[in-house]
Amino acid sequence: MMAGSHIALGAAAWFAAAPRLGMPALDPLSLGLAVLGSLLPDIDHPKSWVGKRVWPLSLVCAKLFGHRGMTHSLIAVAGCAALLLDGRMPLPITAPLVVGYLSHLVADLLTPGGLRLAWPLKGTWSLPLCRTGSAFEPLVVALMLSWAWGATKERFDPQAGLRAAGVCRILGPELPSLCGPGVLPGPQANRVGLAWLRDTLPPVISR
Ligand SMILES: [Zn+2]
Repeated sequence: MMAGSHIALGAAAWFAAAPRLGMPALDPLSLGLAVLGSLLPDIDHPKSWVGKRVWPLSLVCAKLFGHRGMTHSLIAVAGCAALLLDGRMPLPITAPLVVGYLSHLVADLLTPGGLRLAWPLKGTWSLPLCRTGSAFEPLVVALMLSWAWGATKERFDPQAGLRAAGVCRILGPELPSLCGPGVLPGPQANRVGLAWLRDTLPPVISR
């Protein structure tokens, strides 16, 4: 699949897995690690997104294993399990990485090219649902993303973000729909906002 599809499916896999692991699905670090994990297997392809960024290592991997070789095999799956069980790296780091990595293998399994799971033995396994780059690929990705989004109980709360950033203290009374319930009442909010401006602006201006 294309890098963009792997990214979306890595995030989808984390949305679905995180609640079952008792971890936050929407934590930016975890999501970033899941996305990174979803791109890592293609390190064996120098023209892939990750391959271009670490091309010397990618060239060595491509030469030694070939594309969709060891990094896409049961050896890599065992490596993921070992990383989880080893415990030297904290689970909040390894879990999203591994979930993202495995999502990549499942995604490649859905293409006609399939996976050489028993690498270095020959033989390819596949459930050819869509060709890489075909018009059907975004549809499969969208379906899986919406299913995974439905599976997570967490939801983005932009209003909480705005409140935490202090934006609602200034704009909340004028735009209540922006900040929702929990915004400070008008006069108090204005006082807090003005106090914040008074404390913040002079040092900025004097720089
Ligand atoms: Zn791949």
